[in-house]
Amino acid sequence: MSFLQSEDRNGLRWSWNVFPNSKEEESRFIIPLGCLYTPKKEIKTMPTLPYVPIQCRSCSAILNPYCPVDFVGKFWSCPFCYQRNQFPESYYGISKVSLPAELIEQFTTVEYIIPQQQQQQQKQIKEQKDDIKKSPVFLFLIDIHTTQNELDSIKDTILQSLAFLPPQSRIGLITLGTAIHVYDLSFTECPKSFILRGTNEHTFEKLQDLLQLRNPIFSQKEEQESEFPIGIDKFFRPISECEFLLSEIFEDMQKDPWNSRTETRPQRCVGGGLQVALLLFARLFNLKKLNWDNIDEINPTNCLGGRIITFLSGPCTKGKGQVVDRELTNRIRSHHDLQKGTSKYTKEAFNFYDNLGEVACKLGISIDLFGCSFDQVGCYEMKTLISKTGGDLLITDKFNSEIFTNSLLYLFSQKKTTKKKQEQEQEQEQEQEQEKEKEKERENGLLNTEFNASVEVNVSAELQILGTIANCNNLPKTKSARINEEFSIGNGKTNRWKLNTLDSRTTLGFYFSVIKNEKNPVDPKRVGIIQFKTISYDSDGNIKIRVTTSGHKFGDFASNPNIIKQSFDQEAAAVLVSRLAVMRAKTEKIGTILRWMDKSLIQVCKKFANFNKNSVSSFQLSPYFSYYPQFMFHFRRSHFMNIFGDSPDESTYFSHSLYKENISNSILMFQPVLHSFTMNGPPKPVLLEMDSVQKDNILLLDSFFLVLIHHGKQIKNWIKQGYHEMEEYKDFATFLELPKQEAKIIMSGRFPYPRFIECDQGSSPARFLLSRLNPSSRKGSNNLYNSNQNENSDLTDDVSFNDFMNHLKKVVIDLD
Ligand SMILES: [Zn+2]
Repeated sequence: MSFLQSEDRNGLRWSWNVFPNSKEEESRFIIPLGCLYTPKKEIKTMPTLPYVPIQCRSCSAILNPYCPVDFVGKFWSCPFCYQRNQFPESYYGISKVSLPAELIEQFTTVEYIIPQQQQQQQKQIKEQKDDIKKSPVFLFLIDIHTTQNELDSIKDTILQSLAFLPPQSRIGLITLGTAIHVYDLSFTECPKSFILRGTNEHTFEKLQDLLQLRNPIFSQKEEQESEFPIGIDKFFRPISECEFLLSEIFEDMQKDPWNSRTETRPQRCVGGGLQVALLLFARLFNLKKLNWDNIDEINPTNCLGGRIITFLSGPCTKGKGQVVDRELTNRIRSHHDLQKGTSKYTKEAFNFYDNLGEVACKLGISIDLFGCSFDQVGCYEMKTLISKTGGDLLITDKFNSEIFTNSLLYLFSQKKTTKKKQEQEQEQEQEQEQEKEKEKERENGLLNTEFNASVEVNVSAELQILGTIANCNNLPKTKSARINEEFSIGNGKTNRWKLNTLDSRTTLGFYFSVIKNEKNPVDPKRVGIIQFKTISYDSDGNIKIRVTTSGHKFGDFASNPNIIKQSFDQEAAAVLVSRLAVMRAKTEKIGTILRWMDKSLIQVCKKFANFNKNSVSSFQLSPYFSYYPQFMFHFRRSHFMNIFGDSPDESTYFSHSLYKENISNSILMFQPVLHSFTMNGPPKPVLLEMDSVQKDNILLLDSFFLVLIHHGKQIKNWIKQGYHEMEEYKDFATFLELPKQEAKIIMSGRFPYPRFIECDQGSSPARFLLSRLNPSSRKGSNNLYNSNQNENSDLTDDVSFNDFMNHLKKVVIDLD
């Protein structure tokens, strides 16, 4: 099975598909042993099973094709803890030729769906008044200190987005500026809101009084025992009941009038607004108390989850979570301030938001941030609040833009149906009439996003889990977890993680190690097994349990060099290394990380390339490794390792996106794809070199955040002369459309929606293309791998890829 097939079938790709057979061998493989896993990847061939999975009674691993089965005795053995488990009676009919889907060899990924009704029957939950278990809750938190134009764009896009949400889902609305407005969405006569001070610390107790969330007739005891929180209903209404009111509120909503002074920054209480939003959720989920300093007590039992979608036009300047003064002369912190440790508010703000993040995790709520401003909005301080909760982040200039609108709508996009066409057609014929009725009843399908999710990983006895690098938070480990307690990578020391929202892009990077040592290596007959179990709620409230099980052989390079080489997935490896580098850059100097990357690249080439001593021209990398140096070259030059010109907010944004995306999108972020379109043939990929710019081609650049079309001089002239409008040059007009169509396809499926630029050779916007192209080769560049290299010599900025490769080859061969 090729690497791509494995991704299609399981959403899973490994750096090494054959595992090293000992600790020592693992370190000789140089590139870490790990995988990128996309738990909600759309898999066309995946069976969906309408029943509860069969679990090992000792370690709770799930029955899978790697389990040895005793068909006579009706037993199965757990490959993780070796427990023998009896099949339930309903499985007694199984035989080698009649297997349930979860035991069939090719179905290494299956998804169990437990419908909401069944959940209630199983847990014997009595029918309650609340429907918060049945659908996710969305709260919009809007900063109204912005221009009217920008505010209108936010309002319009929110109203548009409501059409995609399941009609039973509840929504809430809070605005923040100088004060915090919490909107009562049950009061239909006119817009009504409760006004809270932005500078206060908000507590659960006080808020209940201020928002009239107590029943005056109830005693304290009665209140404690009440099954449904009193009064909270008015702040979270089902869409069907408040859509009209919401548009009225929006019509009435103006930008903050209190902030009229222009010589200071406006008073913006972001931290207070988020606190209030979380307290409302806590109340909705029927918590009786919430103490910011004791998050262990937070234990809601009946929430399906939801998201707080935050729109900010500037940084918090007042109250908790403040990141900058109101005085304009005091500038918001830069990378330089952060490095020197002179940033006044950062540490306190960071801790404050981090704590909110922990609370949100407990509540199953993710926090998304849309920061649209020419200045920073403080997302550096808020980064763990967003990443821990699995939220999404967009940083751009303005709300009044395609980038914002399409990105927000993407959050509410719906699942593509994965049924086969034929099946669909048949069904359509049969149920056409019924379908039409249903359509009327309910226009909305399932959201692409799933909620309140956890991912659990179990490994067989030869392996240990080091951790994950992703936008998620740690959960307590399971009893039988095999983890490395001394050394961890990213979110470590556990085998379970929480993600409050999860969609088909969410990709986690996992890192593992082998526990056997060289004297007693893993028996080559053994298969190392890793199981991923993802539990989430879909937007209809059904529980989904996706189970992926992956099995791998062990080996060592000396005995089987070719098998080891062929098991190397250079794309997966590049992304795992890039996540590791970005994570390390948060606490270490960039120079240290670049030296580590150089050193490991040299070691990889020394070990896996073929060459004769003293002959640079003999250097050859097998196809399994040939792109790896190129990935590292581009990664070193990218925003991730070169922060010059980027603000701390932007750097946060880039790393957040890298931690979220799948392999191909991650690689695009540091190594863009360039296609050349000419009149003489089909479009073809070209190198990221200056030579690729030709007067008679159109270039299409995709660097994930930016999609750019560049017309060569000749093309530009033809357009100027209007050839594309002449009947006899129809082909030219068609040719001009091709890259545009391609760009549209690229951009439509992406979050964040990319910036789009169309430009001509020699024009000013063409610099966005030129800055991504490698300079032409030149002689006399500094030797990159000089061991005396000083700390800050960064590096490949002015070195072409050819020079880079030549240096690399020389160092690899000379050092030998
Ligand atoms: Zn077990």
